[in-house]
Amino acid sequence: MNAAKYIWMNGKFINWDDAKVHVLSHTIHYGNGVIEGTKAYKTEKGYAIFRLNEHTTRLKESAKMTLIDIPYSVEEMNQAQIDLIKKNDFVGDNVYIRPFAFLGYGVMGVYHKDAPVETVMSAWEWGAYLGEDGLKNGIRLKIASMTRAANTSSMGKAKATANYLNSQMAKYEAIDCGYDEALLLDDQGYVAEASGACFFMVKHGELITPPNDNSLASITQKMVIEIAEFLDIKVTRRRITREEIYVADEAFLTGTAAEITPVANVDAREIGCGSRGPMTEQIQTMYFDIVFGRCETFEHYLTYID
Ligand code: PMP
Repeated sequence: MNAAKYIWMNGKFINWDDAKVHVLSHTIHYGNGVIEGTKAYKTEKGYAIFRLNEHTTRLKESAKMTLIDIPYSVEEMNQAQIDLIKKNDFVGDNVYIRPFAFLGYGVMGVYHKDAPVETVMSAWEWGAYLGEDGLKNGIRLKIASMTRAANTSSMGKAKATANYLNSQMAKYEAIDCGYDEALLLDDQGYVAEASGACFFMVKHGELITPPNDNSLASITQKMVIEIAEFLDIKVTRRRITREEIYVADEAFLTGTAAEITPVANVDAREIGCGSRGPMTEQIQTMYFDIVFGRCETFEHYLTYID
C-alpha cells in the first residue's frame, strides 16, 4: 500500500509508522470493530471528499449497532478527516479514507463493555479497486458458494469488521477460481451484494437493484439511483435471482472503492455484449463527473479541502 505521513488517532496526529496497537487488543481477538470507506477525489479545485457526512454518520450508526461508544461526534470526525487530507499533503492519486473504531487493550473475554474504544482515521492514495481495465471492460463475477450471513445471526447494516470474514471467504474463492469478484446470495437465494459492493442489472431499459434487506445501505447505490432519476431511467428495487442475472442486458457493481464497475461475465455466462454496456457507461460517466466536481447539480455532495 501507499503509506502516507500521518494518521489521526484518538484526537491527535501521529506519524504513520507509530500507529500501532497491542497484540491483545480486544478487536483483534473477537472481531468487534467498525469501519468506513470514504473517498477524496483529486478535482480541478483540489481534493474533495465525497458524501463525507453520510459516511461518518454510518460509522457512528454502525458503532451504535455493535455497542461501541465512539467518544467523538460526527462533526468532530468529519473535521478530523478534512484535517487529515490537508496534513498529509497528498499530490498523486485519489485518496481512500478509512475511519475505524475498535476495542483496544486491557480487557480479555468476550464481554466488551469495559474495553477501551480507539478511534482512528487513516488515508492513503489508492487507484481503482477492481482495476482500470475492470472499469472500462468489465470484470468476471462468481456467485459465492457461501451465502451472505443471515439477518438472524449478524448485523449486515453495520459496516462491521466481523462481517468481512464472510466477504473475505467469498472473494478468495472467486479469485482462486479465476474470477475477479464474488457475488453473495442471501439465505433465500436472492442477490444480497458483492464482497464489497452492491449489485445492479439492466433488463429491457430498466435498472434493477435489490433492496438493502441483506446488504450494507450503500451510499454509492443511493447515488446511482439519484443519477438514474436525473437521467429519466426507470429504477426498480426488487429481489433478483441467480438466473435473471445470467440473462441480464447489463450488470455493474457500485461501491466507494469499486465506483461503477461493469460486470462482463457471471459464472461463465457473458452478460449482454460481454463488456461495459451503454447504460452502465452513461451512469459511470455521470458518477465520475460528480465525484470530480464537474457536475453542478450534485456538487453539494463534495467537501472541498482548501
Ligand atoms: N457492501 C459492502 C459489503 C461493502 O463493503 C461496501 C463498501 N463500503 C458496499 C456494499 C458499498 O457501500 P458504499 O457504496 O457505501 O461504499
